[in-house]
Amino acid sequence: MRDTERVSARHDAPVDVAYAAAWTSQACARGAVAAIDLDALRANIATVRERIGGVEVMAVVKADAYGHGLEACARAALDGGATWLGVALLDEAIALRDAGVGGQILGWLAVPGSRWGDCLERDIDVSVSASWALEEVRAAATATGRLARVHLKADTGLSRSGATPRDWSDLVAAAHAAEVEGLVEVVGVWSHLACADTPSHPSVAAQISVFEAALTVAAQAGLRPTVRHLANSAGALGVPSARFDLVRLGIAMYGLTPGDDIGTADALGLRPVMSLRARLASVKQVPGGSGVSYGHDYVTGSDTTLGLVPLGYADGIPRAACNSGPVLAAGALRTVAGRVCMDQVVIDLGDDDAAPGDEVVLFGGEGPSADDWASACGTIGYEIVTRIGPRVPRVHLGVTS
Ligand SMILES: *Cc1c(COP(=O)(O)O)cnc(C)c1O
Repeated sequence: MRDTERVSARHDAPVDVAYAAAWTSQACARGAVAAIDLDALRANIATVRERIGGVEVMAVVKADAYGHGLEACARAALDGGATWLGVALLDEAIALRDAGVGGQILGWLAVPGSRWGDCLERDIDVSVSASWALEEVRAAATATGRLARVHLKADTGLSRSGATPRDWSDLVAAAHAAEVEGLVEVVGVWSHLACADTPSHPSVAAQISVFEAALTVAAQAGLRPTVRHLANSAGALGVPSARFDLVRLGIAMYGLTPGDDIGTADALGLRPVMSLRARLASVKQVPGGSGVSYGHDYVTGSDTTLGLVPLGYADGIPRAACNSGPVLAAGALRTVAGRVCMDQVVIDLGDDDAAPGDEVVLFGGEGPSADDWASACGTIGYEIVTRIGPRVPRVHLGVTS
């Protein structure tokens, strides 16, 4: 259990002691903060590593580390036992290196004209799914004089990126030819699962067989990839036969569930990394029968106290949280009262005492979880944390390097 003793941060407003350090002057002035617990992030990696044996971990830090802050999370992940960093955009990979982050980095989502050469110059591995990309990588290797480290991607059934079984042998042959030319080294072969969050789904076993067949074709063509990888968080935790040499760990590292069939975050021993917290901007008494927020979708049942939270859909609070998003305020769980506005939401505090400046918890820490918000809004925890916008300062707790 967390220490629930209350301390004063600023303006004498009560703040949970575990999060007092998150209320920097910037967060205080803004009235909202996303506190990022890097100890939890490191602990989550350790928890997953215990379950997957000696398999390596690629920490997936795309999309600003799912909204948690790219650089700080990448450093903490390497510190916590990940040996690889994975991002979608090549620009994200370049940003990591330019911030001085080490480790092996893979970027996997490119379009024609992407910054291949900038990646090669920074020792960033790139994914290749098609012959046009291999051609661009060969050209970049020639132009920069650097050997391109490539992960060939097979489409084993997700129908997103990757070469289909029909195109795979041609791609593999072209990659081998580029190796012979001295321009490319195929270090990885990889793919991605469509239904890893439902391990019993027949597509999971089917994708594993297609992946194994793709590995055989690559070996027959003379490729010797050292990292074969297929699993995301759900695959890592729920499909042991999908682990191969490395798992790409995203959502579990951030302490949220990869899917109900895999288990709740609690059951998996994962600790939420992000806690979204705010300070009440207004507290006032209103009579029963008062309509609240746009459209009056909420009407107070009796005389009550309303609190105003300075976060809205422009900050990433889903509009779908109307009358459903859970908030811990004045010692009890409340529900967003009425519509989520662009910059603010209202909560009904009933008869409980509160004052402007008091801390409320939207998710994380002692409050509801981002997974609870996902259930309330008909989405997934990934979307809840990733959409928290740039108007919310991220404060990283537990920074060690
Ligand atoms: C985002 C992503 C991951 C991480 O998935 P989680 O479910 O968050 O673990 C892994 N691999 C690929 C290709 C991805 O796009």
